[in-house]
Amino acid sequence: MKKALVTGVTGQDGSYLSEFLLKRGYKVFALRRRTSMPIYVNVEHIKDQLEWIDGDLTDLASLIRAVQIADPDEIYNLAAQSFVGTSWNQPFATGEMTGLGVTNMLEAIRLIKPNARFYQASTSEMFGKVAEVPQRETTPFYPRSPYSAAKLYGHWMTINYRESFSMFACSGILFNHESPRRGLEFVTRKITNGVAKIKLGLQNELRLGNLDSKRDWGFAGDYVKAMWLMLQQDQPDDYVISTGETHSVREFVETAFSYVGLNWKSYVVQDERFMRPAEVDLLLGDCSKAEKKLGWKKSVDFRALVHMMVDHDLERLQVNEPV
Ligand code: GDP
Repeated sequence: MKKALVTGVTGQDGSYLSEFLLKRGYKVFALRRRTSMPIYVNVEHIKDQLEWIDGDLTDLASLIRAVQIADPDEIYNLAAQSFVGTSWNQPFATGEMTGLGVTNMLEAIRLIKPNARFYQASTSEMFGKVAEVPQRETTPFYPRSPYSAAKLYGHWMTINYRESFSMFACSGILFNHESPRRGLEFVTRKITNGVAKIKLGLQNELRLGNLDSKRDWGFAGDYVKAMWLMLQQDQPDDYVISTGETHSVREFVETAFSYVGLNWKSYVVQDERFMRPAEVDLLLGDCSKAEKKLGWKKSVDFRALVHMMVDHDLERLQVNEPV
């Protein structure tokens, strides 16, 4: 039986990846950070099948202990302070968790289990003020937030440990990926949750920031498969994962409102509070390397994704389920 150690299991990607690995017969060890309130909404259904280990990315000793206990074949580092908006309010904590946390994990692996395979969750936000369209593995980076600067550090540390210590370390440069399990602060889920509330008469407006920015939005359930595929190859490498389509926030809004038969212009209010000090205007990924080498392909397109998320929020609010 293969063993995997996953960080960030209670988040969107961690929950999909854990399901995926359990289905393939893996024993899954989940690193868990202590919180005063439970945060198991995304993993309630598989909670008892996971082996939980207490630890924190900012605490090297706890990671050494986790690698010792799990003795994993594969390690997936999905934990982070992952919200760009918050990274402006907590730049240092974001740097520690999202950036230095990667180094802590790489060190723990190097010391305890150097032949384990490592996946680092890098991000299209590293392209930031983009140098070319579409963005691919060779596109220069230009991070535009404390979050993406921290992720870029983690990305390069992953490459450095691969090149310096011959570790099987891969970095997945994933473009935005969404699902009904996306955190409510991200624009996609904020929109679908808002649309559902407005449709059900629970809210009468939706306050948003910049409607002009464009993102390449895919389905998180498709993207976790790419993470796994990267670790099954003969050689470690870095890959862009994307849909190859870009849409504006405004288009997401239009698609979600029109799906429930409403005109978005009657409900959306622009609010300065949700504007960013620096914006990433346009992300569009070219994942032809992943398609060719990993045989990876998206299965959910933009419209289907928006509809899936709106359906989920409508259903959830009607039966009063938690997030
Ligand atoms: P990001 O790409 O990781 O920053 O993902 P987000 O979902 O947080 O933001 C995507 C884009 O939506 C960014 O360009 C935001 O500026 C834009 N946006 C517009 N209004 C909002 C809002 O109310 N909340 C969030 N989170 N983003 C917004």
